[in-house]
Amino acid sequence: MLEINNLHVKLEEEDKVILRGVNLKIGAGEVHAIMGPNGSGKSTLSYVLSGRDGYEVTDGSASLDGEELLEMEPEARAAAGLFLAFQYPVEIPGVGNMTFLRTAVNAQRKARNEPEISAGDFLKLVREKAKTLKIDAEMLKRPVNVGFSGGEKKRNEILQMAMLEPKMCILDETDSGLDVDAMKLVSEGVNALRGAGRSFLVITHYQRLLDHIKPDFVHIMAAGRIIKSGGPELALEVENNGYADLLAEGI
Ligand code: ADP
Ligand code: MG
Ligand code: MG
Repeated sequence: MLEINNLHVKLEEEDKVILRGVNLKIGAGEVHAIMGPNGSGKSTLSYVLSGRDGYEVTDGSASLDGEELLEMEPEARAAAGLFLAFQYPVEIPGVGNMTFLRTAVNAQRKARNEPEISAGDFLKLVREKAKTLKIDAEMLKRPVNVGFSGGEKKRNEILQMAMLEPKMCILDETDSGLDVDAMKLVSEGVNALRGAGRSFLVITHYQRLLDHIKPDFVHIMAAGRIIKSGGPELALEVENNGYADLLAEGI
């Protein structure tokens, strides 16, 4: 599904190297977690994969289902099935949630050269997804994220993800200190959307998220590299011993 080879990335504006040879393979339907100390480059990895400005790839490659990702515009990446959940969802006053979701779905269809979704089909789809995710219909009518609680924003983000039916979902949930409720919402959403054709990369600073989302593989990132990979037990090792031992091993 996702294959990253020897990825090297620096800041565009400065001579600051952030990723120093990241290798990662995620198979169809697998859930991988990346953990690591602050500043190790976890968010940068997700930004580079989604096509955010400000970073320069100096070496390596990344592909989604065999398609080279790093050459594509962000819209094309979304059309190819990549979804990045934002750490800080934006509020869009004056734009209803339904309109926003429909615009997102149609933008994806356009990039795929598919016709726009009809009003009826859209309504059916959004109701079905909202039901699966236990989202109140009332939330669909409100302006995007305006006055939403943290938990509602999280729910809405998961709904966006569900509507776009991505093949590869990247969730960067670091640092923001998700409270227990938000963590549960994210986990329930991810678990509801898990399936054979959909893979997840969950980036987290905290082991507790992985109590709810059981990953197939865990990777530890430090100083711009993945220094160790293993199963869920690796997350527990971090929980019990912190990163110090792993860092000492990895250097
Ligand atoms: P993590 O998500 O693992 O905490 P980041 O990817 O956010 O790490 O950051 C990795 C390093 O790169 C940090 O030292 C951070 O300060 C730096 N960095 C990332 N993006 C930028 C940027 N746009 N401008 C300046 N420094 C950046
Ligand atoms: Mg950070
Ligand atoms: Mg981060």
